[in-house]
Amino acid sequence: MEFRDLRRQYKFNKERIDKAIADVLYSTQFIHGSQVEGLEEELANYVGVRHCVTCANGTDALQLALMVWNIGEGDAVFVPDFTFFSCAEVVAAVGAVPIFIDVDEDTFNMDAKELLRSIEATLKDGHYTPKAIVSVDLFGQPADYAEIRKIADQFGLFILEDAAQGFGGAIGSRKSCAFGDISTTSFFPAKPLGCYGDGGAVFTDHDDWALLLRSLTVHGKGKHKYDNARIGMNSRLDTVQAAILLAKLPVFIQRELDECDKLAKFYTKQLDSVVKVPYVKEGFCSSWAQYTVQLKAGQDREKLQKHLKTLEIPTAVYYPKPLHRQKAFLGNNYAEDECPVTNRICERVLSLPFHPYMRQEEAEMVVEAIRDYLGD
Ligand SMILES: *Cc1c(COP(=O)(O)O)cnc(C)c1O
Repeated sequence: MEFRDLRRQYKFNKERIDKAIADVLYSTQFIHGSQVEGLEEELANYVGVRHCVTCANGTDALQLALMVWNIGEGDAVFVPDFTFFSCAEVVAAVGAVPIFIDVDEDTFNMDAKELLRSIEATLKDGHYTPKAIVSVDLFGQPADYAEIRKIADQFGLFILEDAAQGFGGAIGSRKSCAFGDISTTSFFPAKPLGCYGDGGAVFTDHDDWALLLRSLTVHGKGKHKYDNARIGMNSRLDTVQAAILLAKLPVFIQRELDECDKLAKFYTKQLDSVVKVPYVKEGFCSSWAQYTVQLKAGQDREKLQKHLKTLEIPTAVYYPKPLHRQKAFLGNNYAEDECPVTNRICERVLSLPFHPYMRQEEAEMVVEAIRDYLGD
């Protein structure tokens, strides 16, 4: 059994994908082919924002947003403590300071009360100027945008929505990648909508920012390619990846999201009595980048993982370490009681095999193995 079976996904969609790739090979427009523009149009339409600018990966997408807002030295950016390293890495990369916010124990997303407390403390401290909030839609569920938007407005901060795991999610009828002033996603193969290499995209309703993003992704180009108006990056989605994504997008929308939802409901029903199952808020829709349970006190994660491995059931720990404890940021210079929820859940989370092509008998095997072992 695969943790996320990309081979099965490819086999299911082989004809469309092979043709899409062959078309690019014959066209030889490997960079800036027409498929890139076509994809940007379809993604913007699906999400419901004015502009989509594709780029090389989800990390660049985040950094590009910070560059648009001119965030740098002396600025503070608020980032959840429980997430992938990129979210804070890009803040440090542009010279600003990431400030880590504890998360909600049930949703895994940024805790709005902690955010408010931290912004007030940062202002009082006076060392850094608060500029932006990186709100992450972790494991597929959108962050609490009603609360986060109120706080952002109160203090005049930008919201950068990191929907690397959230693409395809929604709150009511509003889709993920539409909640930020700028929103980003990643097409890394294992993300909800993955390509066959690296890829990313930036979304915004703001016309001038979209223009600036187009310049920044191509060496800060001005009127033409050899007129450079600013310092930018080389960050493009290549045509082969765009073609693959164009072939996969309809299947993602029409089939994969529903299949993930069915599987999540099955897991939740079967596992609710033995572990803490993921909680999706009323009116929220998760794209299920991961199905992550929390073990209870006394349940040994390492032993459970080893046992499942002997049954050829792969599992993973996202994430084993809070960002505030990463050596890259602070060395080991943190208070023991900083971000207590993140500290606790890092010890307890376990992500299960999960993808839209999983068979019923595989899903049954997973839940039976866990229930047997944890003694239900
Ligand atoms: C994967 C991921 C990224 C980075 O995306 P890449 O395309 O790998 O650079 C950023 N943020 C989150 C939350 C992610 O899961």
